[in-house]
Amino acid sequence: MPDAAVAARSSEKTNSAGTTQQADVAVVGAGFAGLYLLHKLRKAGFSVVVIEEAGDVGGTWYWNRYPGARCDIQTIDYSYTFDPELDRAWTWSEKYATQPEILRYFNFVADRYDLRRDIRFGTKVKAANWDDTSGRWQLLTDNGASISCRYYIMATGCLSAPKPPEIEGVKDFKGAVYFTGRWPHHGVDFTGKRVAVIGTGSSGIQSIPLIAEQAAHLAVFQRTPNFALPAHNGPTPDDRKTYFEADRAAYREQARWSLAGVPYPQEMAVSWQLSDAERRERFEKAWAAGDLVHILTQLWADQAVDFDGNALIGKLIHEKISAVVKDPETAAILSPHDHPFGAKRPCLDTNYYKTYNRPNVTLVNLRQEPIKAITASGIVTDKRSVDVDVIVFATGFDAMTGAIMAVHPITGRAGKSLSNVWANGPQTYLGLTVAGFPNLFMITGPGSPSVLSNMAVSIEQHVDWVVDRLAALREAGFTTMEATEAAQAGWSQHMADCSTLTLHRLANTWYTGANVPGKAQGVMPYTGGVGPYRSICNEVVGRGMLGFRLSGPNVAEQCNDGEVVRLQPDVRLVLGMLAEMNLPQIESLGAQGARDFITEFNKGRPAGRPVGEVGSGALQGADGPLPYRLYRPATPGPHPIVVYFHGGGWVFGDELSDDPFCRDLCRRSGMIVVSVGYRHAPEHRFPAAAEDGYAATRWIAEHAAELGGRPGPVLVAGWSAGANIATVTCQLARDRGGPQIAGQLLVCPVTDCRFDRQSYADNAVGYFLTRALMFWFWDIYCSPADRTDPRASPLRGNLANLPPAFVATCEFDPLRDEGIEYAEGLATAGVPVEQLQARGHIHSSLVMVDVVITGVSARVKMAEALRGFAGLPRKLEASGEDATPIAVNAAAG
Ligand code: NAP
Repeated sequence: MPDAAVAARSSEKTNSAGTTQQADVAVVGAGFAGLYLLHKLRKAGFSVVVIEEAGDVGGTWYWNRYPGARCDIQTIDYSYTFDPELDRAWTWSEKYATQPEILRYFNFVADRYDLRRDIRFGTKVKAANWDDTSGRWQLLTDNGASISCRYYIMATGCLSAPKPPEIEGVKDFKGAVYFTGRWPHHGVDFTGKRVAVIGTGSSGIQSIPLIAEQAAHLAVFQRTPNFALPAHNGPTPDDRKTYFEADRAAYREQARWSLAGVPYPQEMAVSWQLSDAERRERFEKAWAAGDLVHILTQLWADQAVDFDGNALIGKLIHEKISAVVKDPETAAILSPHDHPFGAKRPCLDTNYYKTYNRPNVTLVNLRQEPIKAITASGIVTDKRSVDVDVIVFATGFDAMTGAIMAVHPITGRAGKSLSNVWANGPQTYLGLTVAGFPNLFMITGPGSPSVLSNMAVSIEQHVDWVVDRLAALREAGFTTMEATEAAQAGWSQHMADCSTLTLHRLANTWYTGANVPGKAQGVMPYTGGVGPYRSICNEVVGRGMLGFRLSGPNVAEQCNDGEVVRLQPDVRLVLGMLAEMNLPQIESLGAQGARDFITEFNKGRPAGRPVGEVGSGALQGADGPLPYRLYRPATPGPHPIVVYFHGGGWVFGDELSDDPFCRDLCRRSGMIVVSVGYRHAPEHRFPAAAEDGYAATRWIAEHAAELGGRPGPVLVAGWSAGANIATVTCQLARDRGGPQIAGQLLVCPVTDCRFDRQSYADNAVGYFLTRALMFWFWDIYCSPADRTDPRASPLRGNLANLPPAFVATCEFDPLRDEGIEYAEGLATAGVPVEQLQARGHIHSSLVMVDVVITGVSARVKMAEALRGFAGLPRKLEASGEDATPIAVNAAAG
C-alpha cells in the first residue's frame, strides 16, 4: 500500500498521546521553508505533518519581534515565487518590510493554501530515530502523538536556536531580561528605564536606535564592531520595481542563477582598474542605495575575494562613521578593523551611528573592559559598574547547526547520533543530506548557500529539489535515499576549496561557529554562490543521483557513487562560461586565426595589477632582434631577473600575452620579470623558439645591469610551451657554457612528444587545452623526426646538473603526467626539485590571475621558490590573504 494511503487511513486517528501518527513526510518548522514544503508535498500527493514549537506560523519572524525588526533583503526579493498568482496577490508596503508585515504575509500564505490543518503547533520533537527494519523515522514529541514517517525534513532555519548569554550572574539580575530572538508578544515599554543592550549584530543594530528613543539611559555593550549601512527605507525603489514589473518571471529566474539570490550582474571591473574618484563614486552610489547585496557585490570584482580590494571599502565606511559620530573616540570604537567587509554579516540600519550622539546613550567597549559579571543591579566590567533596570541580550544564535543538532537527538543507521557525527563540524552532502541518516533532509543546511544568499531563493530551490526527488523515488519504487560517504567527503573537499575563494575564513563569526564557545570551527555555508550551487544539485540528478544510494522493497538497489565536483570552484565557473560562449576549436582557425582569437579573448580578462614600472625593448635572439617586456617591482633595486617565456603552443602568444601572470610574479617575488617575444611556428618552426629562448636568456644575463637588474645568475620561468623553452634553455646553458641560471620555474611544461600518458586520455577534452589542440601545436611546431630532440622533448635530454626547479602541474591537464615525470627525472638526476600538483586545476588555471582565485596559493609558492633560487628570503612580506583567522572571542564577557 502506498505511504499516502497508509497515512490517509492512519490520519483518521486522533493525535492524542499514545497513538502514532503515520505520514509520508514529517517536517519540523512552519517558517518560510516549512510552509512551502507542506504545500508542495501535498500537491505531489504526499501525506505531511508539520511540527512547530511556536503557537503559529512564521518561524524566525514569529520569534524575532524586537523593536526595529525588519527584513534586510529587499522584501520584493524576499517572497515566495512558486506561484505567480500568489506573487501578484501580495504587495509589500516598504522596501524593507517590518516583522509584523512579514508575519502577516506568512499568515496570508497559510490561509491561502489552507496549511494550518496539517501543522501541529506548540509541539516539539523530543527525539528522532531511524528504524532500519521499517525504513522509517520514528519521532517522539512533547505534545500529542508520536510520528512514524518515511521522510524527515528539518526546516528549522539557520538562525533559530538563540545562543545562551555565557555571562556569569545572569540569574542574579533582579531587573527584566529579554532576548531579541525570543521577544515577548506583548512588546516591551522602555520608557524611563535604564537599559543595557549586549551585542551589536543585526538584531542589536536594528533595536538600539528605537530603544534609545524610549529609554532614560541606554548602555550598549559592544564586543566587536560591525559594519552597518543606512537602509534608506521607504517605498520599493523605482528602478528595482520597474525592472521587476517588466518581466517578473525573468527577474525571478535571474535571481535563481545569480551568486547571492538577488538579480544583480557580475561586476567585472577590478579595484585597481578604477581611480580613487571612480571607486568613491561607486561607493557613494552603493551607500545611497541602502542595499546590502548591492554594496556586497557591485563595487568592484575583487571586493569579496581579495584582501586589498576589500580593505578599500572598510576605509570608506570608516570615513562615513566618523562623519556621523561626533565623538572621535566613540567613532573609533564603532569602526571595525578586525575583519574584511562582508566576511562577517554586515547590517542595515536606521539611525544607528547617529544614536551615539544622543546624550542618553553610552558605548562600552568590551575589548577594553570585558564584562566581569552580571549582578543583581546591573553589569560590572573591568573598569565600571553600570546599574540598569533591563538587559537586552542581542547576542545571536547557535547558527546553522544549533536548531538541527542541539534541539533534539537525531539517531541514524546503527544508532549513530548526529551530534557525534558532527562533533568536529557539520558534514553533509550538498547541505541537504548526511551519510548514515537515510531519508533525512535539511532545508538550507550547513554546506548549502543558505545564509550567504537571499534565503527565499535558497529555500525554494531546496524544497523543489527535495520534493521532486521524493516524487521521482516513489515513481521508481525506491523508498530510501542516502548519501554515500564518498560523495559526502567530496562535498567537504569542495566546501573547503570554496572557502578559499572568499574572505569569510578570515573572520570569527557565526558563519564559522566562532560565536559559540567550544563549537567546531569552519566556514559552514557554501561560499560558491547560489547559481553554481543550483547547477551542481541539478547535475547530481542528471548524473543518475550521483552520490546517493537508492533502495526499495521491490527494486534493485541503485548507487552511482562519486564526487560531483572535482574541479576547483572557480575553474568550474570559468569552464562553464567558456562552454556558454560556444567558442570555436582553436585548431580549426589556422595559425593566424588562432592568434587573432587569443588576442581578442585576452581582452576580456582582468587587467594585471600595477607593478613599479613596465617597459619594453628589443633584445638579440638567435636570428635577429626580439621584443621583450620588462616588469620592475616598486621596491628599490637592483633586483634579480626572471626570464619569462609565455605559453601558446609555440604558435601564438607574445611578450604581452601572459601580462597578468608576469605582473603577479613580479609583485609576489619582488624581482624583475622580462617576458620574451620569441619566434613562432609555422613561420619559424623548431628549433627557432628553443634557440631564441637560449639566446634571449644569454642576452638578458649579459645586459642585467643595463636592465636595472642584479648582475650574476638569472632565473628562467615559463608556462606550457614557454616552460618547455625555459627548461630547454637550462639544458642548453649547461651544455654551452652559460649563462648561469639560478633556478627554473616550470608551469605545466611540455616535456615530451608522446601522447600515450594517462593524463592525455583522462583530459582529452573538456578542460580547455585538449588533446587535439596539442596534436595541432606539435604538428605546426616540429616535424615528427625532430620531436625526440631534447630541444623539443627535454625529458629525453640529460637531466643532471641542471638548476634547481619548481615544477607545477595541474590535475585536469593533458600535460600533467609528462610534467610530473620531468620533475621526478630531475630529482633522480640529483637536481633539487619542488613539485606542486595542483588538485582540481586545468592547464591554464595557474596563470589566470584574478580569475582563478584558488590558484593564489600556488602562485605564492612559485614566487617563494623563485626567491629561494635567487638566495632571497622566501617570504616577501605578510599579506592579508595569507592571514589565519583572528583569535576567538578574545574578550568574552
Ligand atoms: P549576531 O550577529 O551573532 O550578533 C551577536 C552580537 O552579540 C555580536 O555583536 C556579538 O559579539 C555579541 N555577543 C555575543 N555573545 C556575547 C557575549 N558573551 N558578550 C558580549 N557580546 C556578545 O546576532 P544577531 O544580531 O541576532 O544576528 C544574527 C544574524 O541574524 C544576522 O547576522 C542576520 O543574518 C540575521 N538577522 C537578520 C535580520 C534581518 O534580516 N533584518 C535581523 C536580525 C538578524 P561578537 O561579534 O564579538 O561575537
